[in-house]
Amino acid sequence: MQFSGQILKMCTQNGKPIQYYLNLGNDLIMMNQLIGKTLTIQHIGYQCLCCDSDEKIYRMGFCKKCFFESPYASDTIIRPELSTAHLGIGERDLEVEKSIQLHPHIVYLAYTGDVKVGVTRESQIPTRWIDQGATFALPIARTDNRYEAGMIEVALKEHLADKTNWRKMLEDDFEDDLDLKDFRDKIREYFPEDFQNFYSMEHEMERLDYPYEAPEKIVSFTLEKNPEISGTLTGIKGQYLCFDGGRFLNVRAHEGYVIELEADTTE
Ligand SMILES: [Zn+2]
Repeated sequence: MQFSGQILKMCTQNGKPIQYYLNLGNDLIMMNQLIGKTLTIQHIGYQCLCCDSDEKIYRMGFCKKCFFESPYASDTIIRPELSTAHLGIGERDLEVEKSIQLHPHIVYLAYTGDVKVGVTRESQIPTRWIDQGATFALPIARTDNRYEAGMIEVALKEHLADKTNWRKMLEDDFEDDLDLKDFRDKIREYFPEDFQNFYSMEHEMERLDYPYEAPEKIVSFTLEKNPEISGTLTGIKGQYLCFDGGRFLNVRAHEGYVIELEADTTE
């Protein structure tokens, strides 16, 4: 099988195990069925997710110009507490920012090698957890908008991690008796006073099941440093494809790269 197109983040479907689809714009390739097969991915160009330009990708799938101008790459995407659409104040494009920020958001705890706190739109659950490679996740608050969730996250990250350490996530070590509810109960006191009413105990912890077993060593591979990766696909976790020898390709970090993919399905 041969495909070519622009890399978008993989689409997922929660299940046992999670189902992954590589999204090349025109083609969705079912990746679970390629585990154990030989794949070759070759970098042949760039295509900005926003303007389609073939300029080099700068960050988040955007060329440099779009990264600094698009409302989809604004500061509030990374730092929800800076959100201002609920006040009617725009940063780059108020209408787009309203469409992103003025929806119910969830503050959650996730185990991605460490217990971390995160924020996402309610409609992004469990997709967000899968993208981060969380083994366990537990919603701890539901807010009316992105700003409120961001303010809770800021207070809690004084006490918990808020970034995923990708290497620890891929090592896939965890205690079987880990219970995020214990962490939820402990951090309740750190909720900002004005946002206590969003604290929620109604959720159960979810466990996510990846088509993945951690290899002995973990090596990061980028198409920037080396335009071709070839080998046996051994598993998938988060947005990472794992190749033999413990080589990992972070699909999300390659959004906007145009590639050719060849899969040998005759084996
Ligand atoms: Zn662009």
